[in-house]
Amino acid sequence: MEKRIKKKPRRFGEWEETVNFRNEPKNQEKLWEVEDVLDERGENGEKEYLVKWKDWEGPNTWISAEHNPELQSFVTRNMNNPNSCKLNRDLLELPESDDNVEILSLKQAIFDSLADVRYTPEGSIGHQARITVKVPVSAETFSATFRAKIQKIPKDNGNVDCNLTVDEVSLVLGNNWMKRGYKTSTETYVSEREYVHIWWGYKARQQYCHNNCARCSWAGVEEERPQLCTPTITNIPGPAWIFFTFTRSRRNRVTGDVARKSK
Ligand SMILES: [Zn+2]
Repeated sequence: MEKRIKKKPRRFGEWEETVNFRNEPKNQEKLWEVEDVLDERGENGEKEYLVKWKDWEGPNTWISAEHNPELQSFVTRNMNNPNSCKLNRDLLELPESDDNVEILSLKQAIFDSLADVRYTPEGSIGHQARITVKVPVSAETFSATFRAKIQKIPKDNGNVDCNLTVDEVSLVLGNNWMKRGYKTSTETYVSEREYVHIWWGYKARQQYCHNNCARCSWAGVEEERPQLCTPTITNIPGPAWIFFTFTRSRRNRVTGDVARKSK
């Protein structure tokens, strides 16, 4: 692949990249569309925006908005759009760099599951449910977090099956893992009245192999074929997982516990 100057998009400057043009139809001008604006620089008159182009897999490019009404109107329209990459990046509080990715995944899974509130058949909304969240958590991570910070979990490397209080789990997951707020005054949360149950350990895949099974490879007369299979069994170890079970509840910050108000 050779380096060439790509024919520039009609209005938005030019850049250099490596791409194979052989498959692109010639003479077909493409009008590039702004998909998102990721960053900005410069002062009023010379303002430039870092543009991500729609359907374009090349690099994002810095473009001046000065003679570019389309880009200008895109920026005006999307400045307050929470789905814009730029704004999303500003709004997100990025995790501490030393946060463990497996623990972050567990927190994310708990957060996601908190939103999954179902109504009871009678229509009352204070429904409680027992939820299990499953995430791979390596032995190293489990030792450095749950084993290290919670006294009652044995320090050896064996499987763990125990009940923890919400406060004990907070020693590992921090302070904001057990609640989810919404635009309205509703809140879903992990009930502190019930234990969190955790199971941690290796899951195995049990494989049955009939290659040497007398019944399956029977060559004699049909009447004498063994009645039962005798497969060989292999246990193939899988990754370590945590199964994290808690009681999810829901309340309204204005009117109190929804569960108590329902009939
Ligand atoms: Zn068999």
